[in-house]
Amino acid sequence: MAILVVGSIAYDSVRTPFGEVTEVLGGSASYFAVAASYFSPVRLVAAVGEDFKPEDHEVLRARGIDLQGLAREKGRTFRWSGEYGYNLNEARTLATHLNVFEHFRPRLPEAYRDADYVFLANIDPDLQHDILSQVKKPRLVALDTMNYWIENKPEALRRALAGVNLLIINDAEARQLTGEVTLVRAAARVFGWGPSTLVVKRGEYGVLMFTPHSRFAAPAYPLETIVDPTGAGDSFAGGFMGYLSGSGDLGDSAIRQAIVMGSVMASFNVEKFSLERLRTLSRSEIDDRYRAFKLLTHFEDL
Ligand code: AMP
Repeated sequence: MAILVVGSIAYDSVRTPFGEVTEVLGGSASYFAVAASYFSPVRLVAAVGEDFKPEDHEVLRARGIDLQGLAREKGRTFRWSGEYGYNLNEARTLATHLNVFEHFRPRLPEAYRDADYVFLANIDPDLQHDILSQVKKPRLVALDTMNYWIENKPEALRRALAGVNLLIINDAEARQLTGEVTLVRAAARVFGWGPSTLVVKRGEYGVLMFTPHSRFAAPAYPLETIVDPTGAGDSFAGGFMGYLSGSGDLGDSAIRQAIVMGSVMASFNVEKFSLERLRTLSRSEIDDRYRAFKLLTHFEDL
């Protein structure tokens, strides 16, 4: 089955304690699509400007991502700049320039409308809602967002959430969105808005999943070197949704496996800047790290 993703394609400028890059390929849809492409066909909807480089287009094309829905608009590609201190769980945004995304309201290509899996990656919630209204009968819709949209477009975000099954956000966003301190209460509040599953990304502490009937926790992989956490959340979501779409299974075990696969993809992504690590993985590297996760969390009954 194929996944439809809408989100940002960006030129990012990022400073971490381990280095700095300027105007490199990033964006929520790029990280998501490349991570998901290892498991499932991916159809992408996004906009780039006249300055979008052919070699960056090639990064997406080389992963087999369907780019029929990628519009080249007049103007400049989305720009984001941010920095991280030694607390790599917290990005400080220095600048956001929406550029071509300011007025982007795409019509979905006909072939995209019957998508079974939809990921509304971090972007303007009006755009997320608009895309979702053009999809016929999806099996699973997941949404990610960030403080920028929670602060600037709270009503639009609540409208978009009404059609969503699964919300994937980080712990600070969960608290900001719901006004609740504990994640258990945040989940209960989110369930009242539409989604029946909340996946909370907790950076180096891993992931927590809540449904009205179950909970699941996965750690993050303990890495020796981390270069840049940008895109960890999106590559988590890409591994997670990609695995679900690839297997076609939405049972509890498949969802748990998908959370670990998401964590695997996020762990690779943070090893280098931009998509440098994510785009060159082999299946055996992915499988080895999945097994390492299993060992990391295995323990016997009393
Ligand atoms: P994350 O997975 O949360 O680290 O996402 C990082 C990516 O989100 C970067 O590549 C940015 O280009 C992108 N980004 C940052 N701010 C926004 C925004 N307001 N809307 C959409 N994408 C964004």
